[in-house]
Amino acid sequence: MNHAQLTALGRALRLLGEHGEALSADTPDARLHEVKGDLRRALDLLEESVTSAAPATRCPEHPNGPVDTSAPDLCLLCETRRRAARHGSYGRPAAEAAPAPSRYGVREDRPQPQQRWLPELWNGREWQLCGTPRRDRREAELFLAAQRRAPRAAIAYRLVHEFTDYEVVRVWGNPVRVDIEPLGNM
Ligand SMILES: [Zn+2]
Repeated sequence: MNHAQLTALGRALRLLGEHGEALSADTPDARLHEVKGDLRRALDLLEESVTSAAPATRCPEHPNGPVDTSAPDLCLLCETRRRAARHGSYGRPAAEAAPAPSRYGVREDRPQPQQRWLPELWNGREWQLCGTPRRDRREAELFLAAQRRAPRAAIAYRLVHEFTDYEVVRVWGNPVRVDIEPLGNM
């Protein structure tokens, strides 16, 4: 507001005050129309004097910032800062940066080869599996020895070593190691 505006606005407001002092039950309509005109003029002067928008919040730092109606000063920016400070997580990366736990397990990068020992019997025409495949060779041999001593034993048994391995045949993307930030103290 410059000096000329201040002078004009002051005069207009003082005039309105005089109108208020003089107001009575006998005030004629012609006088009321005059008051209306002076009031409009004062309002126009006021509008010219005010350059910025009316403050949206009561925050001195962000008077025209976004509004949070639940905040005491209506300032969303300051309320967000206060909320984060209360939770002790201000400045930390968002929790959603952590990947969701998979319902599938993870495997070693280069899994150990799997080996199994298969007990088989000769059924007269071909070899067939005669028991649960074992992880341990000694266990499989003991099993076959027991089978051979059984009353209705087959005419021949054999132990088969099954050896399987995994081989990565193709990789899509670059599997760089990403350190997952610990979650904030929620
Ligand atoms: Zn603020």
